[in-house]
Amino acid sequence: MAQEVRGEFYDLLAARGVTRRDFMKFCGSVAAVIGLSEVYAPQIASAIAAGTLQPALWLAHGLCTGCTESMAQIGVPDVPTIVLDLLSVNYWETVMAAAGTQAEDNITATVDKGGYIVIVEGSVMTGQGGNVLRIAGKPGVDELKEVCSKAKAVIAVGSCAVDGGWVAGDPNPAKATGVQAYLAQNGIKTPVVNLPTCPVNPEWVVSVLVDYLLVGALPPLNEFNEPKSLYSETIHDNCPRRGHFENGEFVQFGSADQTAQEAAGFCLYQMGCKGPQTKTTCPLVRWNRRVSWCVESGSPCIGCGTADPLKGGPGNWVDAGTPFLSRLADTRLPGIGGVQPSTIGAVVGGVAAAGLVVHGVVSASKGRIKGVPQESEKKFDSKNKSSEGGDK
Ligand code: SF4
Ligand code: SF4
Repeated sequence: MAQEVRGEFYDLLAARGVTRRDFMKFCGSVAAVIGLSEVYAPQIASAIAAGTLQPALWLAHGLCTGCTESMAQIGVPDVPTIVLDLLSVNYWETVMAAAGTQAEDNITATVDKGGYIVIVEGSVMTGQGGNVLRIAGKPGVDELKEVCSKAKAVIAVGSCAVDGGWVAGDPNPAKATGVQAYLAQNGIKTPVVNLPTCPVNPEWVVSVLVDYLLVGALPPLNEFNEPKSLYSETIHDNCPRRGHFENGEFVQFGSADQTAQEAAGFCLYQMGCKGPQTKTTCPLVRWNRRVSWCVESGSPCIGCGTADPLKGGPGNWVDAGTPFLSRLADTRLPGIGGVQPSTIGAVVGGVAAAGLVVHGVVSASKGRIKGVPQESEKKFDSKNKSSEGGDK
């Protein structure tokens, strides 16, 4: 039974220029993100209002602050920020006013009280005994272990927190890795929710927190500890360019028709798009206040949502996916073996061939493909300098 949304909560919203209508609209969109009908908006509103005492700590480790920046780009009036305020985020180094001892005291007080959630942004840098990143005069990993071991749950936001991300790319001098792997290595059993993409989508963070407040438990997770509601369908499944893929209409880099192909919104598969093997709701939720997303703005998906918590360090999604804007090395679509994108471009115009490729992609989407083996293709490219997206 939904609780009554408190009057003072709406007073707080009004003081920030947020109407009840805005707020209920926001709750409806959160419902959609977590896979519920919009009729659940009132329950979500009640859950948010009741969440005022839920303390949270936002830790910053090996990062570029892009995820915090992403959180800051979520609309004016910034309802999600209000949600985070109401969640009582007691420590968020990048944005908080407090500094030094006062800031660190916030962590200590929160940990001592217990019953808090930890949000981790950035990779865990384990190099030099954890001294690659020192926080409050101690190895950063010491703070991470202390805070996470006593938390109710840990939310790893952004691909760096999931598998080490850019920081962990080969040769990984800081010995960076992901949060889940690091906690497991240190015998810490606090449940971890992973929200990969670079940066994290702010609506996903809010939706997980709301889900937690709404039902008092973490959302159902897949084998990568990602919320099933956010990471089940491939980008390719929901891509507005999908019709062009099926028609064999591709943007071809360097082609005389490239400008016209781009203007027509052709598929970016031959440009290296990793939408077929990347499972996120980017095409549905979009970015920057729902204005657009990578493929819609003309860039192939680089697969940042494929970060694998069990593959931290070299070989992670960054190493597996580069060079991002070049062709995929080997699509390995089930049913048709290893096929180069240009090959697909050449043959997909035929109905039978298109059916074969689409069948392969659909099959591939049923099992998540973690990155695409590319090393052999990099060697191939180094011997064939003129091959710009072509198949030899
Ligand atoms: S390959 Fe990429 S651009 Fe083409 S339809 Fe799939 S997701 Fe969209
Ligand atoms: S569309 Fe692809 S590259 Fe863009 S944010 Fe989503 S998963 Fe990452």
